[in-house]
Amino acid sequence: MPKEVKYNDYPWDSVLEQAKQVISEGGLVYQKFTCSGCGNRLTVDSPNTFFTLGTCDNCSVTTDIKEKGCNYMVVLHATRTKP
Ligand SMILES: [Zn+2]
Repeated sequence: MPKEVKYNDYPWDSVLEQAKQVISEGGLVYQKFTCSGCGNRLTVDSPNTFFTLGTCDNCSVTTDIKEKGCNYMVVLHATRTKP
């Protein structure tokens, strides 16, 4: 029996605001959202790109991300100029 995992998705506007802040500081963000069809956790391939709609590879259902909310994964640059 598959274990049910509750993912945290946040309102679109606040996620975008936070993501823009991370981007302005030189980080990379990858949008994540939960499929409204099968509950799959999906991550967008393109960095710093946010979609309002997302289609699931698994069940082909299109999720209204702006309505459902989303999250993001942050990748900070490993190399940093030393002072
Ligand atoms: Zn799906």
